[in-house]
Amino acid sequence: MGIQVTELTEMQREIVSTVRSFIEKDVIPVADEMEHKDEFPEAIVEQMKEMGLFGLNIPEEYGGIGESLTTYALCVVELARGWMSLSGVLNTHFMGNYLIGKFGTDEQKEKYLPKMATGEIRAALAMSEPEAGSDVQAIRTKAIKDGDDYVINGQKMWLTNGLRSGIVMTLVKTNTEIDPPHKGMSMLIVEKEAGVAKPSPGLDVGKNIEKMGYKGVETTEMTFSDYRCPTSQLLGTEEGKGFRQVLDGIEIGRVNVAARAVGVSTRAFEEAIKYSQERKAFGKPICEHQAIQMHIADMGTKLEAARLMLMQAAAKKDAGERSDLEAGMAKLFASEACHDITLAALRVHGGYGYSKEFTVERLYRDAPFLLIGEGTSEIQKQVIARRLLEKYKI
Ligand SMILES: Cc1cc2nc3c(=O)[nH]c(=O)nc-3n(C[C@H](O)[C@H](O)[C@H](O)COP(=O)(O)OP(=O)(O)OC[C@H]3O[C@@H](n4cnc5c(N)ncnc54)[C@H](O)[C@@H]3O)c2cc1C
Repeated sequence: MGIQVTELTEMQREIVSTVRSFIEKDVIPVADEMEHKDEFPEAIVEQMKEMGLFGLNIPEEYGGIGESLTTYALCVVELARGWMSLSGVLNTHFMGNYLIGKFGTDEQKEKYLPKMATGEIRAALAMSEPEAGSDVQAIRTKAIKDGDDYVINGQKMWLTNGLRSGIVMTLVKTNTEIDPPHKGMSMLIVEKEAGVAKPSPGLDVGKNIEKMGYKGVETTEMTFSDYRCPTSQLLGTEEGKGFRQVLDGIEIGRVNVAARAVGVSTRAFEEAIKYSQERKAFGKPICEHQAIQMHIADMGTKLEAARLMLMQAAAKKDAGERSDLEAGMAKLFASEACHDITLAALRVHGGYGYSKEFTVERLYRDAPFLLIGEGTSEIQKQVIARRLLEKYKI
């Protein structure tokens, strides 16, 4: 059961069906094993490049497919249904495409977008730090101008794709005196050699952070020690725009997380409803026990609601309308629903759900990340409440 493909364009149907077949044939048979080995899916990522997925949202003039956020969301659902880590390889790259496409200079677009469209250059996003996650304005990494360079000092944390990326969209403070602090924040396009732990003097990617789930894709630290970055690498032309730029990018990231949640939930639902008809207890398939039917009803209903909220948020952004409320709601609801659905799927499997031989064990470990990434549920609720109070002000 995937997203309903009615009311989609011919192109969208074709893309989604290609990704779905690829997931069925090349990903599902190997995903559990690769996840348990914490192995980067090199060959699968090569296939994703060939399918054009890295350039899905890049305009055709720069070698991309020029598709909408809705198409992207549909593809992420399919990828996460196979293995959530694949959508992680794409997410920070997609935000990089979006940020350079929307805020970059013509030179930056010409330099990076064609190579990003093919996946030759992949992007990571460095916003979080060891002591600043939700509180973005509290970041400490500084970039101070010295001639034609910025000299960067500081430490970044939790970089998905930190090692294998060729550029890192890095949020820094170019002015540490200004109040409010966000006015002193800028985004730099830090270039580095992909796959190298110490790519140049003053830049250190650091170790891979071991995680409970979301394996295969690396998550790293990154330390800057008097690292020199040319001033031409400032995203756009003006300093002080980084906070707004990153918030804009995160709106896309929230749609991505909601889509991953729908993908993981879809798979958990499929696994559970199948198993419930196969497993027998007390002389009948467990799906004939009312308690299991309650799980099935709850799972199916939450999944359907999450899917509709996701499509609504993506459609609003595609229409050029303000969509922070819808993106926040979709992210909050879909990720919480995914947590509930994966737990219910595990319960339906009984003891086997706790065994690494069954896929629901992996889905259950992947789900909690969605409650945290691109803004925790607590922060999501604040964003939603603030917007609702603004909208319904008396
Ligand atoms: C696997 C993984 C991959 C990641 N990838 C990236 C990446 O590629 N790039 C990147 O920049 N970051 C990345 N992150 C970081 C992620 O965005 C942060 O972990 C997240 O924003 C939360 O920040 P924090 O971990 O510092 O938690 P904190 O901000 O310290 O929050 C701790 C707790 O306090 C709560 N809290 C904080 N402030 C408030 C408040 N005002 N009101 C109520 N509750 C509050 C939070 O909800 C949470 O429950 C990744 C994280 C993980 C785990």
